[in-house]
Amino acid sequence: MMDNFVAKIIEFGAKAASVIEVKDITFRPEFREACKRNACGKYNTNWGCPPACGSIEDMMAQAQSYPYALVYQTVSQLEDSFDYEGMQAGKAFYNQVTEQVLKAYAEDFPEKETLFLNAGACKLCSRCAKLDEQPCRFPDKRTISMEAYGVDVSNLAKVAGMNYINGQNTVTYFGAILFR
Ligand code: SF4
Repeated sequence: MMDNFVAKIIEFGAKAASVIEVKDITFRPEFREACKRNACGKYNTNWGCPPACGSIEDMMAQAQSYPYALVYQTVSQLEDSFDYEGMQAGKAFYNQVTEQVLKAYAEDFPEKETLFLNAGACKLCSRCAKLDEQPCRFPDKRTISMEAYGVDVSNLAKVAGMNYINGQNTVTYFGAILFR
């Protein structure tokens, strides 16, 4: 059944997908220090990002309570390494694939309890309510990034049998559905 679903994700446009055990994923609590240094510029600007999303200890424990992870990646071509529009288009493509993956998963496996780990900050609203110190508009739908859970994504790629980098002038995004 899950093999068929992996094939479905490829049909949606993902470059690769596979099921791994969460115990094989490397979690690095020290990644939270990079968040605190605001390495990505999103710290304290989004309800789906640190510090609002929760402590690294709580989030790692939450993720590690699931036995399996369905991991997928999208790969998009860039004109060159400065192609910002191409990167945005790559993220839009990842979002489009992700929307289909989550919808199909909910239809095919309604009985499974899941936790979705996204690529980057929650972008459900054009302006996150956190910026205006208002409550999250969609707490049941907001997403949290893999890094906020402490996931070492380059190691995740290796464990899932995927390339973390997919050649010159490409951009790769990863998503994962943890399930039980
Ligand atoms: S759903 Fe909207 S308000 Fe909530 S975290 Fe996402 S972008 Fe922010």
